[in-house]
Amino acid sequence: MNVLIVYAHPEAQSLNGALKDFTVSHLQAAGHQVQVSDLYAMQWKAAFDADDIVGGPQGQRFDASRDSQYAYANGLQSADIAAEQDKLRWADMVIFQFPLWWFSMPAIMKGWFDRVYAYGFGYGVGEHSDARWGDRYGEGTLAGKRAMLVVTTGGWESHYSARGINGPIDDILFPIQHGLLFYPGFAVLPPLVIYRTSRMDQARYASVQQELAQRLDRLATMAPIPYRAQNHGDYLIPALTLKEDVAAGQSGFAAHRM
Ligand SMILES: Cc1cc2nc3c(=O)[nH]c(=O)nc-3n(C[C@H](O)[C@H](O)[C@H](O)COP(=O)(O)OP(=O)(O)OC[C@H]3O[C@@H](n4cnc5c(N)ncnc54)[C@H](O)[C@@H]3O)c2cc1C
Repeated sequence: MNVLIVYAHPEAQSLNGALKDFTVSHLQAAGHQVQVSDLYAMQWKAAFDADDIVGGPQGQRFDASRDSQYAYANGLQSADIAAEQDKLRWADMVIFQFPLWWFSMPAIMKGWFDRVYAYGFGYGVGEHSDARWGDRYGEGTLAGKRAMLVVTTGGWESHYSARGINGPIDDILFPIQHGLLFYPGFAVLPPLVIYRTSRMDQARYASVQQELAQRLDRLATMAPIPYRAQNHGDYLIPALTLKEDVAAGQSGFAAHRM
């Protein structure tokens, strides 16, 4: 497989750095082709703004969606954005690895999504009408590809359990897994979450590495999270609510899983 690792940690000698290096060597030893977008090392520009439109915005003011569409359609995107889109086209599998910072990804990675998921690439794909609301949530540019999060946390597993104070990890990761990965078409594998990272000694590190290796060995075969596809009959269009008889009585994030 062609595997892209989009990675955000500012320090090479961190736990994340060690796990990323291990992932690269393990995948290469198994015969996969690997590319890494090491966002801090690349000094990735996180903010999407008018400078990302070669020649400047189309109109009198910068319009983030319209100018993104214009730049994408006309080959006028910043070179770094176009290069990341090419890596995504190349990849069969994308691993997003980051430490959980304030219950989400580090800002530099959020900026990767803001800039790389251009209008026409990440969103605004397919027919938009009262009968069809685009190719998204299970369809889109990245359909046929797989993605997985590798996330480290300071908090304990119990803090992220069903009744834990931080909220369930599936809920915390829902905007990323469903909103950023399933939305443009990725099949999303269950995340690998490494909790309580301050309690890491050599013995625990060895077991974490082993767990990661087992995940990497199953990238092609593991069942994805069964999110409901937008255009497969579970949702009313254009309201985009679940039909009454689908997940009857349920609401919230969990209702969008089969
Ligand atoms: C701004 C910010 C916001 C945060 N928000 C949250 C939050 O919302 N929720 C939450 O749960 N946590 C939060 N944290 C904690 C954060 O998630 C953890 O600090 C992070 O996941 C740890 O990953 P790291 O790669 O930085 O680990 P490091 O700090 O590099 O390492 C962690 C431990 O692993 C050891 N280690 C490193 N490399 C190796 C190796 N090769 N072999 C063996 N041991 C090793 C280190 O000695 C250390 O003890 C936040 C932290 C910051 C800075």
